[in-house]
Amino acid sequence: MNPADLPPELSNTPELVLAMRQIAQGPLAAQVQAIDQGTYPREVMQQLAAAGGMSAHLELPGQPADFGLAIKAMAEVSKVCGSTGFMMWCQAVCGLYMQTSNNPDLMGKVLNDHVQGLRLGGTGLSNPMKSFAQIESLLLKATPVEGGFEVSGTLPWVSNLGPDHYFGAIAGIEGQTGQELMFLLRCDAPGVTLKACPSFSGMEGTGTYAIHLKNLFVGAADTIASPAKPLIAQIRAAFVMLQCGMALGVTQGAIDSMWAVEGQLGHVNQFLHDRPQTLQAELDALTQRVMQLAETPFDKRTEFFIDVLDARAHGAELCLRAAQSALMHQGARGYLLSSEVQRRVRESHFVAIVTPAIKHLRKEMARLSAQEMPA
Ligand SMILES: Cc1cc2nc3c(=O)[nH]c(=O)nc-3n(C[C@H](O)[C@H](O)[C@H](O)COP(=O)(O)OP(=O)(O)OC[C@H]3O[C@@H](n4cnc5c(N)ncnc54)[C@H](O)[C@@H]3O)c2cc1C
Repeated sequence: MNPADLPPELSNTPELVLAMRQIAQGPLAAQVQAIDQGTYPREVMQQLAAAGGMSAHLELPGQPADFGLAIKAMAEVSKVCGSTGFMMWCQAVCGLYMQTSNNPDLMGKVLNDHVQGLRLGGTGLSNPMKSFAQIESLLLKATPVEGGFEVSGTLPWVSNLGPDHYFGAIAGIEGQTGQELMFLLRCDAPGVTLKACPSFSGMEGTGTYAIHLKNLFVGAADTIASPAKPLIAQIRAAFVMLQCGMALGVTQGAIDSMWAVEGQLGHVNQFLHDRPQTLQAELDALTQRVMQLAETPFDKRTEFFIDVLDARAHGAELCLRAAQSALMHQGARGYLLSSEVQRRVRESHFVAIVTPAIKHLRKEMARLSAQEMPA
């Protein structure tokens, strides 16, 4: 038996993970199919946040930051619903931007409301992350004006949004090559329009919208960092490692669904590759590696960042293999539209393509490793 499945009094499972489990296996499990089909689970997100599920990595009064715990909390939820696990990551990194901004206007009550889930938000950093890795150019432009900037442009998809939400964004500053503004973009500000995205094959309930900006004013109160690159350098490893929670959780969910049919189908499933005990051993080893990396999330060494990218890539690849194998193990019952097994295949595809996608991770690892090599 997995020690985490023991009754609370006998296990060393952190209280936060037990709280996540209760919500994930209760109200979240009851609507997981509706979420897959497009329902945004605002109330569940707020419950998970209020229980501390999206803030364990932040330094709060009486609470030291614990990235390992934040990842475990996200994994516990992702086991049941990958979409909600992803939105926990969106909320968690948005909180990280606020805290590391050192801007009093984004800390105090604003951060406190965010931590408690009274306000929800996300991150629009896929495009800048790809821009910094020379994969594409920046889509938002900031023009300096009296007291701040005016920002225009379009982001094709940002998640965990709604009319009263916000997210961290980055715009290139006009006339100042290589200089960027990082700011909190409020969806209800003048100049901001949310547009529905075309249907995706999964993640439909993640509150994902295209964002159109026309002369949005950004002043000091909403500035996260300007220039943005030093802050990105500070948080990039933390940003990527937190995503491991999704990969670990979706993988565990897939392994559990292989065991669910073992009694009935083990006699024939034993001929499959990627059996549950093999995947579990690999997952446990990866979890241990991620937990170790999570002890020093702000380590600035390139070598450390390569290690984080590699763990994240391993997580995405393991997640793809586990979801695929779970479908092989479950057969037709896993192929039913109502089955969590086929849903997880689509969730695992998202883990592999969300920025940094596997191809982006490999490109960055190749680039940084070449930099690290002695001349
Ligand atoms: C459901 C969902 C939720 C997402 N949530 C977020 C989020 O919260 N924050 C965030 O910053 N990013 C988000 N993204 C974007 C995501 O992180 C990736 O950037 C995106 O999936 C493309 O990554 P890629 O590296 O595979 O680029 P590629 O697919 O290789 O694309 C290269 C370029 O083409 C563009 N492109 C490709 N297909 C289309 C299309 N059909 N229409 C318009 N443009 C296209 C891409 O945007 C990119 O600029 C989300 C994407 C999806 C599908």
